[in-house]
Amino acid sequence: MKVIYNLNYNMGLMGLEKLHPFDGKKFQRAWALLEQELGSGLTKYYVDVDRPLSDDELLDIHTTQHLQMMRQPSALAKAFEVREVALLRYSMLDLGFLTPMRWACRGSIIAARQALQHGFAINLGEGFHHAKPDRAEGFCLFSDIALIVAQLRSDGTLTDEQRVAYIDLDAHLGNGVAHCFLNDPRMFHFDMFNESIYPTSDTVAMDRVDCPIPVPVGCEGSQYLELLHNQLPRFLDSVTRTKDVGLVIYNAGTDVVAGDDLGLMSLTEHDVLERDQFVFQETNRRNLPTVMLLSGGYTEASHRLIANSVAWMCKAT
Ligand SMILES: [Zn+2]
Repeated sequence: MKVIYNLNYNMGLMGLEKLHPFDGKKFQRAWALLEQELGSGLTKYYVDVDRPLSDDELLDIHTTQHLQMMRQPSALAKAFEVREVALLRYSMLDLGFLTPMRWACRGSIIAARQALQHGFAINLGEGFHHAKPDRAEGFCLFSDIALIVAQLRSDGTLTDEQRVAYIDLDAHLGNGVAHCFLNDPRMFHFDMFNESIYPTSDTVAMDRVDCPIPVPVGCEGSQYLELLHNQLPRFLDSVTRTKDVGLVIYNAGTDVVAGDDLGLMSLTEHDVLERDQFVFQETNRRNLPTVMLLSGGYTEASHRLIANSVAWMCKAT
């Protein structure tokens, strides 16, 4: 078990981050709770991040035009869904938001490599599952999920034949991931999502998801966990039956918790912990290297939910 984190992940610029429900300091808050919970024992699990991802690396997945767009404040305002962003200089936005995202994208790739060595690793950030090769959406500029797969395949860490299983339990459909792997039969996508929230109109993504599990607004923990317990083992068994799965990528968005205004579901804090424990146990008992990413989560409790799960996983290993 390894936990990957760097202070540079944290986003913020003159309070502007408060205009979006995403807490740009969430990672720092989760880290502080982990330090409280695990004390000096945390150093045993910790892996640092050396640098932000470069343009060249982002081009493994994203188009040149997309990277150019991400230098325009008006395009960033749209991606962040915050109009005021259009009034700022790119250099400031780069410092406050884009560079932190590049650091955390690099963290996702390091976490995946650590997962291959140690079985399970968590990047304390990212999971940007709405980013498409040519388009930013829903606060997601770069697809760290697709970048992991591209880098690990290009250097031979994952072979051409090996499959990748993607488990998305954020409240929103991982439409960006579906678009990044539209024509890749080696990627298997399991997605449990609130069927009534963004991105309901993305039928191309919906069609690409191998195992879509839509749940209703207000879905409670008992219904959610029963579905997960029934469907996830079946998915993992079918994906692993005939070919080797090189890596599992687990998107552990915490916007499924009750009170999250974007996720609109009704899981308790304990349900979220139980969800993460179940994924951990299911991949662990199949010996599947798994990297966990944090993704969405817009309540005050989000960082606590993350710390609960990460602390439990550290103690379980
Ligand atoms: Zn979400």
